[in-house]
Amino acid sequence: MTQRSDATGFVTDESDSVPSAPFFWARPRAAYIHIPFCAHKCGYCDFASVAGQDDAIDRFLSALDREMASQLTPGTVVDTIFVGGGTPTYVSAKQLDRYLDRLNHWFQVSPDVEFTVESNPNTLTAEKVAILANHGVNRVSLGAQSFRPHLLKQLERNHDPASVGRAIDLLRKRFDNISIDLIFGIPGQTQKEWEEDLETSLSLEPNHISAYGLTYEKGTPLWKQRKLGIVEPIDENIEATMYEHLMDRLNLNGWEQYEISNFARGRKKCRHNLYYWANAPYYGFGTGAAAFQNNRRTLNLRPLITYMERVESGESPICQSEVLESESRARETAILNLRRTEGISRVNFIETTGHRIDDLAGDPIRQFVEHGLLIDDGETICFSRAGFLLADGILARIV
Ligand code: SF4
Repeated sequence: MTQRSDATGFVTDESDSVPSAPFFWARPRAAYIHIPFCAHKCGYCDFASVAGQDDAIDRFLSALDREMASQLTPGTVVDTIFVGGGTPTYVSAKQLDRYLDRLNHWFQVSPDVEFTVESNPNTLTAEKVAILANHGVNRVSLGAQSFRPHLLKQLERNHDPASVGRAIDLLRKRFDNISIDLIFGIPGQTQKEWEEDLETSLSLEPNHISAYGLTYEKGTPLWKQRKLGIVEPIDENIEATMYEHLMDRLNLNGWEQYEISNFARGRKKCRHNLYYWANAPYYGFGTGAAAFQNNRRTLNLRPLITYMERVESGESPICQSEVLESESRARETAILNLRRTEGISRVNFIETTGHRIDDLAGDPIRQFVEHGLLIDDGETICFSRAGFLLADGILARIV
């Protein structure tokens, strides 16, 4: 592994430009900005998103700018900027131009910075694509989810399958780093339909695919439908087969699985997410945004109006704040590191946390290794293929 130290004392793996050690007390090198507005609320959505509140967009953007002003100096240097939501491209072209201008004011944007904006297919126009590119955005993550009308309907998505191809055609003119989000395990979805969704995605030639099994988040309309028996989850064995197919199909032909649900080709791993899984510090702005700075985890208020009122009156929008004890930070680092296919490096772990992974979780690790769910070569611990299928349960035991 080639490494270099930068001016801040980070040690950086040049292959992915993500610091490996030591960084808990360092200044954040990643920034997350949350734009909560959507055209409508999808049935499974538990994100901090709002629909039907377009009148508040300009007011929100002013509050967002004020929140950034409270923490940043103009030209703050970061390695990654990630604008998520919500649907960051749902706002008008003028509003998109406005907030990207401000991000260019607060952050030093350059071709070396990975600058991602999440988008939904039917919110992109040639004008918006040009605005994104002209402001230094160099990565777009597109929420396709499925290419089957009945499955999009089940998810209460409001785009049609053809709009994904149209959006990619528009993006291709300015972007060579495009990610597609997919969901599998949707009620009514067959194995064949999932395999075809994956093939359709590959035919669009993205550089990155994120694929998640559908989750029934408490309180969502989909969760209620499941409780009432209106919706029946698919058999967990079928869902496992879908995930196995995903790994088999994508770990071929230049694709690389680098995390439980994330796959890249052409070295286009999402650097921003690699920061999260390294448990490195990051800024967070906007409704419901999490941040990790000075060993403190914070969470912003989710309700739009309360967030704006707080910021407008000069108060902090933070609603939760926790200083992490050394051991809990180390345990958190363990489960975040383990999500990556490269797993936990014993040397890096002790350098970054001050703890030996074997002191924290030696027993469960040994047991999972005996059951063939983890692989331990003495230097690193990582999931086996069978382990990836049971990742959530294993990560819970490691905690
Ligand atoms: S588009 Fe995304 S953020 Fe918006 S409601 Fe649907 S799932 Fe939630």
